Amino acid sequence: VIQLGQPEHALLTTCAYCGVGCGFKAEMKGNTVVRMVPWKDGQANEGHACIKGRFAWCYATHKDRITKPMIRERITDPWREVSWDEAIGYAAQRFQAIQAQHGRDAVGGLTSSRCTNEETYLVQKLIRAAFGTNNVDTCARVCHSPTGYGLGQTFGTSAGTQTFKSVEQADVVLVIGANPTDAHPVFGSRLKKRLRQGAQLIVIDPRRIELVNAPHIRAAHHLALRPGTNVAMITALAHVIVTEDLVNEAYVAERCDAKSFNDWRAFVARPENSPEAFEAETGVPAAEVRAAARLYASGPNSAIYYGLGVTEHAQGSTMVIGIANLAMACGMVGREGVGVNPLRGQNNVQGSCDMGSFPHELPGYRHISDTTVRSQFEAVWGVPLNPEPGLRITNMLDAALDGSFKGLYCQGEDILQSDPNTQHVSAALAAMECVVVQDLFLNETAQYAHVFLPGASFLEKDGTFTNAERRISRVRQAMPPLAGLADWQVTVKLANALGYPMHYAHPEEVMQEIAALTPSFAGVSYAKLERLGSVQWPCNDGTDEAGTATMHRERFVRGRGRFLITQYVASDEKVTRRFPLLLTTGRILSQYNVGAQTRRTENSRWHDEDRLDIHPHDAQERGIADGDWVGIASRAGETVLRARLTEKMQPGVVYTTFHHPGSGANVITTDSSDWATNCPEYKVTAVQVSKVPAH
Ligand code: SF4
Repeated sequence: VIQLGQPEHALLTTCAYCGVGCGFKAEMKGNTVVRMVPWKDGQANEGHACIKGRFAWCYATHKDRITKPMIRERITDPWREVSWDEAIGYAAQRFQAIQAQHGRDAVGGLTSSRCTNEETYLVQKLIRAAFGTNNVDTCARVCHSPTGYGLGQTFGTSAGTQTFKSVEQADVVLVIGANPTDAHPVFGSRLKKRLRQGAQLIVIDPRRIELVNAPHIRAAHHLALRPGTNVAMITALAHVIVTEDLVNEAYVAERCDAKSFNDWRAFVARPENSPEAFEAETGVPAAEVRAAARLYASGPNSAIYYGLGVTEHAQGSTMVIGIANLAMACGMVGREGVGVNPLRGQNNVQGSCDMGSFPHELPGYRHISDTTVRSQFEAVWGVPLNPEPGLRITNMLDAALDGSFKGLYCQGEDILQSDPNTQHVSAALAAMECVVVQDLFLNETAQYAHVFLPGASFLEKDGTFTNAERRISRVRQAMPPLAGLADWQVTVKLANALGYPMHYAHPEEVMQEIAALTPSFAGVSYAKLERLGSVQWPCNDGTDEAGTATMHRERFVRGRGRFLITQYVASDEKVTRRFPLLLTTGRILSQYNVGAQTRRTENSRWHDEDRLDIHPHDAQERGIADGDWVGIASRAGETVLRARLTEKMQPGVVYTTFHHPGSGANVITTDSSDWATNCPEYKVTAVQVSKVPAH
């Protein structure tokens, strides 16, 4: 247990790791945090915490923190420590030179789902108003962008429908492509408690995740499908609902668009969409799929929770739509105990998306081409805005290699480690004339940076995070920024250096602007958060004071729920004799994403390397024993890891994590991405695995 002395005072804040957004009491001695205690009144966690939030916060004062701004002319030059003014002036001058020569769209920026709402709002404002381009994107691109598209198209807004507490009223829980006990542990515990009370569990996942047979829990159905066949599975489940008269006709008639429903019903009823027709593709016995569909439809309250195993596919958006279709057809949206719930990976994925971090949307998911909306922002921001959507990160990287994109401002994201096909990312970064990285540590992307701006941890700033249940909670400054400035202050300085005036004395003023311009945030204020602890958007005049616990109660946000066709298309990543196995990736309990924070804490004791999980049968065929080094080659690249033999894997499928830069899981993932949003297909890579000499 980390205890750095006796606390003298305490303040309330929010965990900076996963999308559960647990409330914590930071116990302080002077300006030093000595302990993080889960807040008993925190609405998202009710006094619980996991080993990340409770113990893995010492990265904030780790010796690797960069606390001085640095610049260099070329990426081969040594870094030179400079003042904030010199670093920001240098960055502004390089960006301006690029824009003068190559046009305003030759630069862009990335907001971070690790930063506060106020900070992401300011970065997208900087890009749109100061740079004059819509080339802004976010790390949510590579995780939950298909959620934005799929739920927006069907329900009318990109958000989970429930509170976490709602699971306590679920009778059937369908977990798809998520591993809540590792990735969202506090919600995972809540879910397990409900399952131990007797709720039925269906898991759709290629791996036998812990929930499948946790103590005193036994999944009624584990549909261990082959990676890349999600849409076949959801369509097969829908086929059973429709052909076995399991549709909630009254709900659909009252709440949903009739034409889209009839088109969808006719589509899924086709024989080629039956569980039997898809059996060879998914690898799951049709009888098992039929039984699972009947159980889901029987409820009476059935809730769906899904994760990146849904979104990070070439058909990620189609799968999100398929999930929404299924829930609407069975009448499982709009009350407690049901719903469609994306489990967001990072602490502020929901918030960064809400804040207009996508190139086609202003805050509140309003399209940039909407003249009325744009004029509201123009009036407050004082500049005309470009009505054309900008580039996504994938397009920015491609354009860098084409020579038309030259400068990137990257706040709080390590794209060289987290984005797929590392070779492509590094070549694109190397081709740029100005890369500005703002982060806590000299991350992988910083190898290609010309300016490094030290970031501030969540303990060093004020603001808000929005968790996966749309809950907006305060982040409170426990200690002064180690580098002297919080991230929002750096963005403000950069905007001013670029000639666009930005003046905020405190993040509260930024939130006032957000609330005035963003309908879903109308009614949100620091005073209300102080009084209530947290609120769930929407939180305006038409809702309870604390906001909206359950979305789409009387009607969907878009009016009537819309069904869309989910035509299954097999992944381009096919197994061949050369690449006979499918690799899928994920996370473990003690580590977090690229590990930049957790690897610098006590948590590294529990996990010191990424390993390749392989079924004993596949291992035996290749002469691989537990702990052997293995080479993993894909069409994109190759890497070396140690093997772990486990029957949690199905034969033909291997798995690894991406918490360590050296192992380079993303060296082997490919450029394949979601058709609607370009979210990378991290979850399906055809690979060859072979034993190699000790490494
Ligand atoms: Fe932090 Fe998520 Fe763990 Fe809660 S469950 S303590 S938010 S990492």
